[in-house]
Amino acid sequence: MEKAQVMPQRPYSYEAPVSQTLFERAAAVTPGGVNSPVRAFRAVGGTPRFMVSGTGPYLTDADGREYVDLVCSWGPMILGHSRPEVIAAVQEAVSRGTSFGTPGEGEVALAEEMVARVGPLEQVRLVSSGTEATMSAIRLARGFTGRAKVVKFAGCYHGHVDSLLAAAGSGLATFALPDTPGVTGAQAGDTIVLPYNDLDAVRTAFAAHPGEIACVITEASPGNMGVVPPLPGFNQGLKDITAEHGALFVSDEVMTGFRTSRAGWYGIDGVVPDLMTFGKVMGGGFPAAAFGGRADVMAYLAPAGPVYQAGTLSGNPVATAAGLAQLRLLDDAAYETVDAVSARIQGLVTDALTKEGVAHTVQNASNMFSVFFTDTPVRNYEDAKAQESYRFNAFFHSMLAQGVYLPPSSFESWFVSTAHDDQAVQRIADALPAAARAAAEATAA
Ligand SMILES: *Cc1c(COP(=O)(O)O)cnc(C)c1O
Repeated sequence: MEKAQVMPQRPYSYEAPVSQTLFERAAAVTPGGVNSPVRAFRAVGGTPRFMVSGTGPYLTDADGREYVDLVCSWGPMILGHSRPEVIAAVQEAVSRGTSFGTPGEGEVALAEEMVARVGPLEQVRLVSSGTEATMSAIRLARGFTGRAKVVKFAGCYHGHVDSLLAAAGSGLATFALPDTPGVTGAQAGDTIVLPYNDLDAVRTAFAAHPGEIACVITEASPGNMGVVPPLPGFNQGLKDITAEHGALFVSDEVMTGFRTSRAGWYGIDGVVPDLMTFGKVMGGGFPAAAFGGRADVMAYLAPAGPVYQAGTLSGNPVATAAGLAQLRLLDDAAYETVDAVSARIQGLVTDALTKEGVAHTVQNASNMFSVFFTDTPVRNYEDAKAQESYRFNAFFHSMLAQGVYLPPSSFESWFVSTAHDDQAVQRIADALPAAARAAAEATAA
């Protein structure tokens, strides 16, 4: 690492008075002051930072402090913030109107780009969020097979779909909610939750429920219990077992899609799902998501077939323009850049924590990675929960105070972008020694 570009140390402090005031205003009108739970810093404590702008790898908060962003809007901003070509595409689209409620060319072009990149994706339906994508994929799988039961894995998060809010990761991992009030026994009763990376458990479930399981849904490579990649052969095993029993294999690529490679996790392990779901990167920072896959299965979807699914803003012209502009910039060179900067940061984190003698395991799935505060490899949700999360919380606040914005939970992936240049990496490198020391000195509450 070149030392030439060391930035002057800025006077960061724990206090964030403008964010604090905004948070109080927010809490008066919004439950918990946020519109998505993990943003509230409940896991790590403290006041969430209200961001006002983003450029390249940096975010600026309402108190005027700049942070190197290692969240990237939870994945979508793979080209960094305010990438000029994406902003220009959005401005051009907005200038023609913002929603028509009719078909438009932009949604066709985005679907064509996705189908061209991902082999098993023969037909695509656009929606507005990852939650909608998985909810619709499950309905379609049930409609196509005429079966009710769904297998999911503990620690995998598929959005806040009622039937999938059982042992989910993400904010639920953070809060360790045992269950969610508001989901009825009937809604959850057809969901079978199994330990991740355990094919024997899947075989046992199929043996116990012959002819009843519509699909197995899994994160293509989980990132919502921290990054826990599938063991070699796990996804292929799911494909084989589902095929043998006439069930569908649904691969949730909302997080990994167009992030872990040009063709997402499919581009890495090559296992062919029956249905896939997408979101995050494909929306270029706007609400756009999708599900798709086998043409014969997608033919069951209205208006071609009997399974109903719809959306007022589905295929929105501004969102699809942003997503298409972003995907078109994501060539092989872009992924090489993201993978390389991710590897550098993983190495720096490992070095800093090792130097302070902090037990840790850095796990990655291509350029997605996270740090578990345990020296045991993490293969499933039980392993992830066994880490010393209090060390992460100390680490997080030290990084934040030094101008590095990490996901505010030890159960989340860290995300980088093509915009994370030497200067941004240096700022992370400069912050790591003190943060590693804070992690070493942390004590369980
Ligand atoms: C983020 C995510 C979702 C939910 O997407 P939303 O757009 O937040 O509804 C679903 N599945 C996975 C794997 C995700 O990471």
